[in-house]
Amino acid sequence: MKILLQNLTKIFPGRGKKSNQEVIAVNDFTFEIPDGKLVGLLGPSGCGKSTTLYMISGLQKPSGGKIFFGDDDVTELSAENRGVGLVFQNYALYPHMTVKQNILFPLQNLKGEDRLPKEKMIERAYEAAKLVQIDDLMDRKPSELSGGQQQRVAIARALVKMPKVLLLDEPLSNLDARLRLQTREEIRRIQKDTGITTIFVTHDQEEAMSISDLIVVMKLGVVQQIGKPQEVYDDPTNLFVAKFLGTPPINVFSGKVSGGKLYIGDSPVLDVPGVEDRDVTVGIRPEGFILDENGPLVCGLNSVEVMGRDVSVVCRHENAVSPVIRAIIDADNKVSAGETVRYSLKPHKVFLFSAEDETRIRF
Ligand code: ADP
Ligand code: MG
Repeated sequence: MKILLQNLTKIFPGRGKKSNQEVIAVNDFTFEIPDGKLVGLLGPSGCGKSTTLYMISGLQKPSGGKIFFGDDDVTELSAENRGVGLVFQNYALYPHMTVKQNILFPLQNLKGEDRLPKEKMIERAYEAAKLVQIDDLMDRKPSELSGGQQQRVAIARALVKMPKVLLLDEPLSNLDARLRLQTREEIRRIQKDTGITTIFVTHDQEEAMSISDLIVVMKLGVVQQIGKPQEVYDDPTNLFVAKFLGTPPINVFSGKVSGGKLYIGDSPVLDVPGVEDRDVTVGIRPEGFILDENGPLVCGLNSVEVMGRDVSVVCRHENAVSPVIRAIIDADNKVSAGETVRYSLKPHKVFLFSAEDETRIRF
């Protein structure tokens, strides 16, 4: 099922004397989510991810705009009638019910002609449980499960009604690092197996990058960029997106362009043909530095951290905006001990942004 968001907007009115300021939680969001894909909705806390998801689910009413499932306008349709499965960060399982009863619950709530015969309900519950690999835990209570198992139950409960759309709001936040990794791969597998159009909300860029077909990067209610994870990483539309994606993060310098050359401090560090003379903000990905004893970018050397395959060179530069500069280089390269380290730059790993409004300047 494809989903179309058309100028979707949510404004929360200011209330009371102290918070009279209205909040535009989601601002004019237009996007068609392709059928059967997993879309990662990504951005810092408070940028409007949950609000977007709740409007798609029907739990919140948009202030403006429309939502279509396939060709049907569902904007006014209630949450129960939209055929969405929802999974939240905090599982929200019923503690007094067994796993089986929890998964069955949405089916038992169906009324009229939607209601299945009892055997059929149980069959469906076991199918959903199998999909998330908890079918051997059906008689336990939630308190007898690990966090990861509880989250699987929540996913099974969302899947049991065979939703047309699966909506996941930070579903992995309560899991420890290893389980988080494992469960996200699981979610990807389930999504591929079922082919359900899925929206996955997270503030964790690595999580979104690793499992999404497409990512949507949001800031303060406004969509910044939509694309395949690698495309957005390789071609960010502004400084915010460039900084939000990637670990270690992109290194930021202030610089200027003069005569088709990029200067960081007094050194011309890269040819940037076609860019007019101006002040710029420069972003350099950690993998964009090449150790080069004659390289034009001279940095003060802080430390060298060996991390298996790669070496992370931590250094400083007086024109850096980032607190430190972090270069990732192949472990085969030896960093000679000294006060300074010199680099040349990989042009496709260097991004220029307007020093005024942080939009991308291409070269
Ligand atoms: P996210 O999920 O990305 O962290 P939210 O969608 O929860 O962000 O919130 C977006 C903005 O809307 C925030 O500024 C938040 O404070 C505000 N907001 C969310 N829900 C409400 C509400 N019910 N009433 C007023 N403001 C809200
Ligand atoms: Mg949220």
